[in-house]
Amino acid sequence: MPETPRARPDLAAIPAYQAGRSAPPGAVKLSSNENPFPPLPGVEAAIADAAASVNRYPDFGSTRLLSALGQRLGIDADHIAVGTGSVAVLAQVMNAMAGPGDEIVIPWRSFEAYPILAALAGASLVRVPLRDDGAHDLDAMFDAITDRTRLVIVCTPNNPTGPAVRRDQLDALLARVPQDVLVAVDEAYVEFVRDSAAPDALDLALSRSNVVVLRTFSKAYGLAGVRVGYAVGPKAIISELRKAQLPFGVTTMAEQAAIASLAGETELLRRVNVLVLERSRVQGSIRAMDFQIPDAQGNFVWLPLGNRTDEFAEAAAAAGVVVRPFSGEGVRVTIGEPAADDRWLAVLGDFLRL
Ligand SMILES: *Cc1c(COP(=O)(O)O)cnc(C)c1O
Repeated sequence: MPETPRARPDLAAIPAYQAGRSAPPGAVKLSSNENPFPPLPGVEAAIADAAASVNRYPDFGSTRLLSALGQRLGIDADHIAVGTGSVAVLAQVMNAMAGPGDEIVIPWRSFEAYPILAALAGASLVRVPLRDDGAHDLDAMFDAITDRTRLVIVCTPNNPTGPAVRRDQLDALLARVPQDVLVAVDEAYVEFVRDSAAPDALDLALSRSNVVVLRTFSKAYGLAGVRVGYAVGPKAIISELRKAQLPFGVTTMAEQAAIASLAGETELLRRVNVLVLERSRVQGSIRAMDFQIPDAQGNFVWLPLGNRTDEFAEAAAAAGVVVRPFSGEGVRVTIGEPAADDRWLAVLGDFLRL
């Protein structure tokens, strides 16, 4: 056998990311938790404007975006790190905090990018099963912490199951976590949360030395295609995250689109409300079928269909709706426009009667 260049052997263990399938013509894509609304007013113009200067590198420090975010959140820009989507910011967190021999504790099932990013960092992953109601088991996550733990990830609301963590339970976890372990709270869907027991993670990230919160422009803000996300946390941690960033990732187009979206926040919040109301309607229809699902606090619902998961995904596809199956466990469906939601709800109604 001729010699060929060899990749790191541990890459073989990295699970391939299962992106939400794209929709065939005429079908609706409810498999990637995207926003069904078009970009906010002013966003396309901002991107077109920035397009005129693509012969130049972007601003290395994303200064304008940092200052717009700082103003919006009422904090100093030194508390914020940006990246190409919060997936990239998560990679910065993992690479900065954990390497070979270190452990990262995550809830599971949760966001599929976590195992991939942890493996790329070379760290060991400790997966702590969710409770039966789809919520984090924060006690069990605390129990999973060892001397080797560098990072604990909390995903609230949890993708794909839906519940948000409770403030009292997160406070209890933080009171016990060793001070040298970082807790990263992934709030990709925070704008959709209506559970009054949910925590204010931003406040925790600004008041504690070992908490960061991750947010994104991809979901509520509808900018999944431009790739911008950010972390807020203690200045000392943020400066480490900035070191772990790939140079020039956030483009001027992305920066300007994010700034324009922040300016359009009134309209954004109106749209988020429309989706939250639609989520209630969808949840109500499902409950009326006598099918129990976890509390949905993101822009998606979780259907715990177990071994009928793939069968349901195929039936939905046949009805023109692409959903996201997790074989043997359940199906995640993004909240879309009412007509699209009605299509798969009808499939579910028929399905549950069989
Ligand atoms: C979608 C999502 C993200 C972020 O996505 P980006 O597009 O990279 O910002 C992060 N965490 C969770 C749990 C998500 O579902």
